[in-house]
Amino acid sequence: MNTKELKQFKKELSRPRNIVIITHWSPDGDAIGSSLGFYHYLLQKKHKVTVITPNEYPSFLNWMKGNKQVIDFSADRPKAEKKLNQAELIFCLDFNSLKRIDALGPLVEQSKALKLMVDHHPQPDAFADFEHHSVKACSTAELIYTLIELLGDHKLIDATIGDCLYTGIMTDTGSFRYPSVTEETHRVVAALIHAGANTSAIHERVYDNNTESRLRLLGFALHEKMVLLPDYHVGYISLTEAELDHFGYQKGDTEGLVNYILSLRGMKFATFIAERDGAVKMSFRSKGDFDVNSFARTHFGGGGHKNAAGGYSEKKLEEVIRQFRTILPTYLKELNKGK
Ligand code: 5GP
Ligand code: MN
Repeated sequence: MNTKELKQFKKELSRPRNIVIITHWSPDGDAIGSSLGFYHYLLQKKHKVTVITPNEYPSFLNWMKGNKQVIDFSADRPKAEKKLNQAELIFCLDFNSLKRIDALGPLVEQSKALKLMVDHHPQPDAFADFEHHSVKACSTAELIYTLIELLGDHKLIDATIGDCLYTGIMTDTGSFRYPSVTEETHRVVAALIHAGANTSAIHERVYDNNTESRLRLLGFALHEKMVLLPDYHVGYISLTEAELDHFGYQKGDTEGLVNYILSLRGMKFATFIAERDGAVKMSFRSKGDFDVNSFARTHFGGGGHKNAAGGYSEKKLEEVIRQFRTILPTYLKELNKGK
């Protein structure tokens, strides 16, 4: 947003409006943290606000204030559509292509409401009237903080908003360890702590929330299903729907699993492949220069960031694994660079 656009955006918010906040498919900590953080700010400004998610999200995010008011589009389409029809403003958080919100995409596209995109993924599509976008930001939550600052309202950030935004930053940075973490990230986090964010309680709520079955699934995946290809510095784990069912899979249970592969000495590229609802979901993670956003876009109709991306396939799990392994030799040189 340039100065003129910011002025116009401020004007849009200068009286109470009907606002819908939407975040991406399979929302993560940043999606929900940034959405609920902005939600609480907008409520303070006397707007009518609804958060809509395309589908459900992991239960380790349910503690967040406002969680009960979130509408899951896949579970209550009529209610979500009613809110969308009433919306004067639609805020799109943590995604930059309408493909990322599934069946909500055409509804947002057709809506006459003014749209704002707040996002930190590369290669944004041009669908919004206003954009607060930076690939340099570690998370959308960081951008929500700077947007509230630009609106001149950082003094309104309280412990509730602080908790939500801290969760977004913490989860999208692997607890402040990825290269995306900057001086700016720590400046924002310092301000959130000053506002009352309860940091150690948040770490506990998000990371010490395992069920026994989830921990046993993790053990099974690492012991029985991890395949390592040391020549490529690549490792992958695949899980069938039956295996997930056996461990009573709940949304979020496989979150972070892919990172264990990258914790191995010498690993550069890790992939998690899961069969769910008859389709295949993939998570890609890398260290250093290997660009998994480009890999996911080129081969698996997905995308994301340079070091963290996702993809999707309608093919059978075995076929996807075969495809993945067939592609790898074309990257052999790149994966062995700077060894
Ligand atoms: P995850 O592997 O945790 O699902 O996703 C990692 C990152 O890639 C996140 O930033 C997420 O938003 C993005 N991502 C995951 N799946 C897709 C996808 O199918 N398309 C695009 N464009 N991004 C994705
Ligand atoms: Mn994010």
